[in-house]
Amino acid sequence: MADVARTALNTITTRERWNLQQAIEGCQRHGIRGIAPWCFQLEECGVELAATLLDSAGLTVTGLCGAGFLTGPDVRSRQACLDRHRKAIDSAAAINARCLVLVVGGLPEGSKDLAGARQQVRDALGELLPHARDAGVALALEPLHPMYAANTACVNTLAQANDLCDELGEGLGVAVDVYHVWWDPRLEQEIERAADRLLAFHVCDWLVPTRNLALDRGMMGDGVIDLALIRGWMERAGYSGFYEVEIFSEQNWWQRDGDEVLEIMKARVFDCL
Ligand code: ZN
Repeated sequence: MADVARTALNTITTRERWNLQQAIEGCQRHGIRGIAPWCFQLEECGVELAATLLDSAGLTVTGLCGAGFLTGPDVRSRQACLDRHRKAIDSAAAINARCLVLVVGGLPEGSKDLAGARQQVRDALGELLPHARDAGVALALEPLHPMYAANTACVNTLAQANDLCDELGEGLGVAVDVYHVWWDPRLEQEIERAADRLLAFHVCDWLVPTRNLALDRGMMGDGVIDLALIRGWMERAGYSGFYEVEIFSEQNWWQRDGDEVLEIMKARVFDCL
């Protein structure tokens, strides 16, 4: 049985209704103790004020998301990616986030060189890790479903992410998002392999049919993912962190009142995880 006290809000779930401060207040009203903000929300709010608000609300910051991609068509654009990530690492440190979640980017515009894009990611991680280690911020590689390989992330399986962790070492871990990895026949073994590198656990559900590949994720229990099974694998592998609810849903959940979403979210963690 899932421990509801470990429910966290990824603030993308309420993005259309609440800014960061409102999301923090929402978590307090609903007894939710973990939160994962996005970089654009930190910028809106100001990192310093955000840090104060999060701290005085007593929230655990389960991750910082949305620092952008690591791939690019030329040296200059890749350098800009690295600069943006160094800034995000500093922001993650300022808000005491447990990790900076990395969605690594897909093929650079005009390119068909998938292996080259993956090499860019590896090189960029190598460049960022010393800064992240100095700042005390763990980097969490989030493998994305292969349907996003072209335009969002060319790290597509947990095995790939684990291989990068093995190669690059300390300071690099993984974020397991059920939406992206539930289909993988090697998921159980790769979660076990990740073990103490499991930095974050993102939950939602896979709807049938899915009407939009980016913006039609389901609330836990409304789709076909065996969430309790995957949670069991995570915990057997040693994960003891939060269940972070991350739902991109333009037509449904983003349209609803934030308080209603949080109420349902908690009930579904209890029922489905
Ligand atoms: Zn995620």
